[in-house]
Amino acid sequence: MMVHLKSEREIEHLRAAADLVSRTLGEVARYVEPGVTTRELDRVAESFITSQGAVPGFKGYGKGDIVFPATLCTSINDQVVHGIPGEIELVSGDLVSIDCGVVLDGYYGDSAYTFAAGSISEADAALCCTTYESLNMGVLKAITGNRLGDIGAAIQAVCEADGFGVVRELVGHGIGRSLHEDPQVPNFGRHGEGRKLKSGLTICIEPMINRGGYGVRTESDGWTVRTADGLPSAHYEHMVVVRQGNPEVLTTFSYIEDVLSELPYQMTTELENG
Ligand code: MG
Ligand code: MG
Repeated sequence: MMVHLKSEREIEHLRAAADLVSRTLGEVARYVEPGVTTRELDRVAESFITSQGAVPGFKGYGKGDIVFPATLCTSINDQVVHGIPGEIELVSGDLVSIDCGVVLDGYYGDSAYTFAAGSISEADAALCCTTYESLNMGVLKAITGNRLGDIGAAIQAVCEADGFGVVRELVGHGIGRSLHEDPQVPNFGRHGEGRKLKSGLTICIEPMINRGGYGVRTESDGWTVRTADGLPSAHYEHMVVVRQGNPEVLTTFSYIEDVLSELPYQMTTELENG
């Protein structure tokens, strides 16, 4: 496994890419409501990214027959991740997880947020709340001297305490000039196990959490991942630099949350850039 610790100059680039992907999700947030199609959301994201002198990070990702065709991954209800935008209209009560990637000056940004269309059920709001909280708990473990397992264990503990399923097949990852770099960052694990975290390691932490069991299956389109039991799933993702004492969170949800009239969760942890 090749792990590349980033220099401050590289982190400066990643910080800019992270800010752009965060602002893109903030633009998309203005349009998430019943009646919008996921393709319309995709157009909003793509035109914003290109207007900023960057390019979409997911479009064209993959190889052979399996190349992702869009700027956003839009995953509704029992879709966990990698949903392909299309003509489907959101209806009130939908949970839609939106994952976005950008490339700015050769460096990737990657972030995800689960939105509510109209009003969602209490059970789905609880799922969002817990998933969001688990992300924050995982991020807090991204400090020098901890181990990778500390991040996963923190996320898993928060989610399983509420009876939710932690997806095993899909994990977070390192990020830099490539979208997916080593190491893999699982959302489950044991404290004190796994690779030691060093300063400058830059990773995406992205819990994918199911209201029911953790099992998932991939559809015949080669991308869309759904829960095996048909219950909804939530997904939040931050880019984080491992630092001594306190992690540096490169992405921010503040652009999104500034435009949401109501949050589907209570924030119990404060995380801000730097
Ligand atoms: Mg992502
Ligand atoms: Mg990612």
